[in-house]
Amino acid sequence: MHRKIGVMGGTFDPIHNGHLVAASEVAHRFDLDEVIFVPTGQPWQKSERAVSRSEDRYLMTVVATASNPMFSVSRVDIERPGPTYTADTLTDLHAEHPDAELFFITGADALAQILTWQRLDELFRLAHFVGVTRPGYTLGDDHLPAGAVTLVEVPAMAISSTDCRRRVAEGRPVWYLVPDGVVQYISKRHLYRS
Ligand code: ATP
Ligand code: MG
Repeated sequence: MHRKIGVMGGTFDPIHNGHLVAASEVAHRFDLDEVIFVPTGQPWQKSERAVSRSEDRYLMTVVATASNPMFSVSRVDIERPGPTYTADTLTDLHAEHPDAELFFITGADALAQILTWQRLDELFRLAHFVGVTRPGYTLGDDHLPAGAVTLVEVPAMAISSTDCRRRVAEGRPVWYLVPDGVVQYISKRHLYRS
């Protein structure tokens, strides 16, 4: 039987426990063999703010996922020049794992934007989409093709990278919102001090 691989794309600036819980829960629900976290290159949706260096976001993602044997991190998006398009991510991962079935994991907010993404028919051909609940957002698949997306309820984690960055900038703690190693990486590299 072919492998089932979850794909968790994100800016991961920084990666936090909401990302990790979502990936873990979807892996269990779909009996996935592994989940690949894919930090974005220069994210076009977020061009209004400076995103941390790709290498820092990549390393925080490695630190956060290192203890889970099912989790790994891919450099495909950070090594492709230009902005990240999910169709490119999935095309590259499909080429690396030609026999695998891909499950693209996305939070309710990102799923809502899915219709604005490029090459929608190509996206749905490359992967099954899994939309997960996220506090503050409504999870729905109203305008999406029938059967293309499965909605999954995951433990509610009212955590965002934006809030983590703001907390660090204000000198407030991010302990237990992000993994311990990520707390230490942020302070070691003086990230988010503005
Ligand atoms: P930012 O505030 O910078 O946008 P973020 O917390 O939204 O950061 P992203 O890297 O933008 O994190 O998100 C990557 C993916 O993880 C997206 O699909 C997003 O919807 C999902 N996600 C992020 N946080 C949560 C959460 N707390 N619960 C469920 N899904 C989440
Ligand atoms: Mg986001």
